[in-house]
Amino acid sequence: MRVGVLALQGDVEEHEWAFRKAAEELGVSVRVVRVKRAAELKGLDALAIPGGESTTIGLLAARAGLLDALRDAILGGLPTLGTCAGAILMAKDVRDAAVGETRQPLLGVMDIAVVRNAFGRQRESFEIDLNLEGVGTLRAVFIRAPAIVRVWGGARPLAVLKHAELGEIYAAAAQRHMIATAFHPELSTPLVHRHLLALARGRA
Ligand code: GLN
Repeated sequence: MRVGVLALQGDVEEHEWAFRKAAEELGVSVRVVRVKRAAELKGLDALAIPGGESTTIGLLAARAGLLDALRDAILGGLPTLGTCAGAILMAKDVRDAAVGETRQPLLGVMDIAVVRNAFGRQRESFEIDLNLEGVGTLRAVFIRAPAIVRVWGGARPLAVLKHAELGEIYAAAAQRHMIATAFHPELSTPLVHRHLLALARGRA
């Protein structure tokens, strides 16, 4: 299989590691490529959009002429995992907990609304064990994480969390061949990457 990691900014190497480990566990061979230009999306079986800074990734993607190409590829059926900043980019509706409207470039491919930086100062980073419906249980690392506050249309929540101010929120959501996680599965167990590869092979 050929899998890509969007490599404009963020934790690209961690996703490369997670795809390799996931493939090893599944007993399939993968070639992991870095995607920086539209042409590099050709022939991919799956894609990860890393965590990092969603405004930066969005602006760099727009500058590289990648935003439309990514959107077309994902909406065309490319199995895609967006983690943290990546999940923000995939959301149709984004606001920031402190500043509200962000007007940042988005892919806007999933029927989810997210609040950026939803966990404030004291809990900027934390880890919990989390069960993702249909995927399994893993250690979830949240770093200046967004909260998925609403899902509609084709999207469904994979894990519910209680948030002090926002009430019930979701740590992850899925829609057809797309998965968004507020946390960083690439920093613990490659369970979600494994699920994505299985999806790409038509076996999940
Ligand atoms: N807070 C970042 C953003 O809004 C996301 C943080 C992360 O990806 N770890 O883009």
